[in-house]
Amino acid sequence: MVWVILDMNRKKMNRKKIIAGNWKMNKVIEESLSFINELKEAVRGINDNIEIVVSPPFTALSVINDAIKGSNILLAGQDVFWEDKGAYTGEISPMMLKDVGCKYTIIGHSERRQYCNETNETVNKKIKALLRNDLSVIICVGETIEEREDKRTFSVVGRQIRDGLKGLTQKDMEKVVIAYEPVWAIGTGKTATPSQANEMHLFIRDTIKEMFEDKIASSITIQYGGSVTPLNITELMLESEIDGALVGGASLDAGSFVQIIRGAV
Ligand code: PEP
Repeated sequence: MVWVILDMNRKKMNRKKIIAGNWKMNKVIEESLSFINELKEAVRGINDNIEIVVSPPFTALSVINDAIKGSNILLAGQDVFWEDKGAYTGEISPMMLKDVGCKYTIIGHSERRQYCNETNETVNKKIKALLRNDLSVIICVGETIEEREDKRTFSVVGRQIRDGLKGLTQKDMEKVVIAYEPVWAIGTGKTATPSQANEMHLFIRDTIKEMFEDKIASSITIQYGGSVTPLNITELMLESEIDGALVGGASLDAGSFVQIIRGAV
């Protein structure tokens, strides 16, 4: 028993922790800049194997990229199109995100699945487009409340993982992060309990083990997302399979985002 716990802790310590803020459709350039200046000051010196990521709207990416130079903050896009270039009015390509300094891109967020016709197939195409442009991906998965109540959580999340990661190589998987975000917990103030979240993270790791190999499954970062706040981050992070958080509402205020980061280190 003791050995099992020690082994789990060792595996967890080898995984990269990531706290990412998803700003969604919030903050014009001036607001983005004042947030980032406050954040930069507050997180100076924090590393401890933790990555701090912000995901502003497309319109603020360029200025934020300039503002974070020399800091320990990384940039993420909130979506991408699956083609490299061409006649796709209104879309943003992986190369454009790379050009503007993004390391990560969030793909498959439940709001895009709900409002923008995102499917497991388009998620898969977008992931492949990012990977062939050498960008990393945060892929969001999670069940609705109806699916949970119907006892379909495992099948829905399993399908999102299998279809989303279809055709990826072991090497590709080094650039993939998963965010488990139960839809019923997003923006509702209703967090999954740490053990509910851990159970799903374990299931996701097992699914990845079946698709790839043990080494990938035990080293992949799996974030939890859904009403994460400074008050619940530490107990979530104590779970063996939770390696970070994707934060919406509480990432919009620099003070609370910093408290979440500090609660996770
Ligand atoms: C999100 O949108 O990814 C999210 C987790 O939102 P919130 O933290 O507000 O629940």
